[in-house]
Amino acid sequence: MTTRIPHWIDGRETEGTSGRTSPVFNPATGVETARVDLASADEVGDAVASAKAAAAEWRHASLSKRSGVLFAFRHLLHEHADELAAIITAEHGKVHGDALGEIARGLENVEFAAGVPQLMKGGFSEQAGTDVDVYSIRQPLGVVAGITPFNFPAMVPLWMCANAIACGNAFILKPSEKDPSAGLFLARLWQQAGLPDGVFTVLQGDKEAVEGLLTHPDVAAISFVGSTPIAQSIYETGTAHGKRVQALGGAKNHALVLPDADLDVAADALVSAAYGAAGERCMALSVAVAVGDVAEPLVDALAVRLPKLVIGDGAQAGTDMGPLITREHRDRVASYVDAGEAAGATVVVDGRASEVPDEGFFLGATLLDHVTSEMTVYRDEIFGPVLGVVRVETYDEGLALINSNQFANGTAIFTRDGGAARRFQYDVEVGMVGINVPIPVPVAYYSFGGWKDSLFGDTHMYGPEGINFYTRGKVVTSRWPDPASSSVDLGFPRTR
Ligand code: NAD
Repeated sequence: MTTRIPHWIDGRETEGTSGRTSPVFNPATGVETARVDLASADEVGDAVASAKAAAAEWRHASLSKRSGVLFAFRHLLHEHADELAAIITAEHGKVHGDALGEIARGLENVEFAAGVPQLMKGGFSEQAGTDVDVYSIRQPLGVVAGITPFNFPAMVPLWMCANAIACGNAFILKPSEKDPSAGLFLARLWQQAGLPDGVFTVLQGDKEAVEGLLTHPDVAAISFVGSTPIAQSIYETGTAHGKRVQALGGAKNHALVLPDADLDVAADALVSAAYGAAGERCMALSVAVAVGDVAEPLVDALAVRLPKLVIGDGAQAGTDMGPLITREHRDRVASYVDAGEAAGATVVVDGRASEVPDEGFFLGATLLDHVTSEMTVYRDEIFGPVLGVVRVETYDEGLALINSNQFANGTAIFTRDGGAARRFQYDVEVGMVGINVPIPVPVAYYSFGGWKDSLFGDTHMYGPEGINFYTRGKVVTSRWPDPASSSVDLGFPRTR
C-alpha cells in the first residue's frame, strides 16, 4: 500500500477527492515512498471557504493572544526540529544538519512575528487640525496564500506564514508536490500551539491548485517563491485578478574574488556556498568571477577541496552533500556540464565521473574553468552542484558582468580592501550583498528579496516588508466636537 499524503483543511487531514496524485521519492534511494494528493478546483474552493470563515474570527484575536500562539509554536518547532529535519531529508535529500539549518532560519521568522504587538503599531498625531487627531492602523487582508518551492520545504513556508498569521490573516500553504510532508508537520504544530482550525491550511497540488488560488475572489494576496518563468506568470495572473502579489524567482549568484582576497577563506566559502544542498539553493553561488592574477590559485584551491566532499544519503552522519531532487533534474544538470564542455569550458573536476551511490539521484561536484557569458552553463540557472569560474581582467569588468545578468538575487565580494567592498556594495545591482559572506540571507528583522528577474512585485519577503505585505493601512481622522460650536461649512476641510 502506497502512503497517501493528504491536505490539511479545517484542522484535520483531509483526503483528496480529485483522483489525481503525484509520486514522492526519497532522492537518496530513488524509491517512491508516497503519493501526494493534487487538489481540484472544487477542493481549492473548500480550502478557501474554511480559511475565510477562520479569518473572520482570527482577526478579532487580541495581539497578545496571537503573540502567545506564536511563542508556543516557536517552542514546539524548536522541540521537534530533529523530527522535521528527518522528514525534509527523506523527501528533499539535503543532509540532516543542513535541514536543521533551514529550520533554524525559519524559526527566526517565527521569533520576529511573535513581536506582532510592536510590529502592528500605528502612528498618532494629536491636534493635526484644531481638536482633530489623526492615527494610522494596519489591518489583516483576510485569506492569503503561499506557493512554495521544493528546495526549502520548511523555511520558505515559515518566511510567509509566521507574519501572515501574526497579522491576523488565515494562511493557505500550497507546498511543492515534490516534498509535501513538511507542510503537514507544520500544520500539526500550529494546532498544538493553539491556533484555531482553518487559520493554517495545507492544500496539496500542482498547477491546477495554483490556478484555483490565483483566480479565487476570496484570496486577497499571493506570496510565491520558485523559478522565474512561474514567478512572472503568477505575478501577472494574480495581479490581473486584483490580488497583491510578491513572486520571488530564480537566481544566478556571482562571487567576485579580488586579487587581495584571503584565498583559503574565499575557497572555503565558495565550496560551501556552491555545493551545499547540492547547489539547490536560490542563494547558492554558481559563478566565481576571478579578477586578474587570482584565477589560477583560486581554481587550484577549489579543486583540492572537492574530492574531500562526502557524497551520500543525507540521513547518514558525516555526509556533506546529498542527491538532487529527481532523476530528471540530475540528468538536466549533467547535460549543462556536457554543453559547457562542448562550448569550450575546462572541466577541472568532473562530477559526472565522481564515485557516487548507484541508487538515488546523485551527481558529483563539478568545477568548470574558462566559462564565458555566452555559454548556457553561465546563462541559465542550473540549480545543481556546478561552479563555473569566469576570468576577468579588472574589477570594473567583473562588476559589469554581474550587473548585466538577468538575475539579481544575491552576490558576494571577497577582498581585504574595505574601500573596494564599499564601492561594490554601492554599485552592484543585486538585492542582497555579502562582503566576505557567501550566502547573505538577511536575518528575519530585515527583509529578503532580489532585483530584476529574481523578484516580481514591490515587496520583499518576511521582516518589516512582510508585515506591510500582509496588512493594509487605514488612517482615521477623529474629532469629538462640542455641539455648541457646530455649523454648516461647505468649504474643503483645512487644518489651519
Ligand atoms: P518551481 O517554479 O518549479 O515551483 C515552485 C512552486 O510553483 C511549486 O509549488 C510548484 O508546484 C508550483 N508550480 C510549478 N509549475 C507551475 C505552473 N506551471 N503553474 C503554477 N504553479 C506551478 O520551482 P522549484 O523547482 O520548486 O524550486 C526551485 C526554484 O525556486 C529555483 O528557480 C530557485 O532559484 C527558486 N527559489 C527562489 C528563491 C528566492 O528567494 N528567490 C528561494 C528558493 C527557491
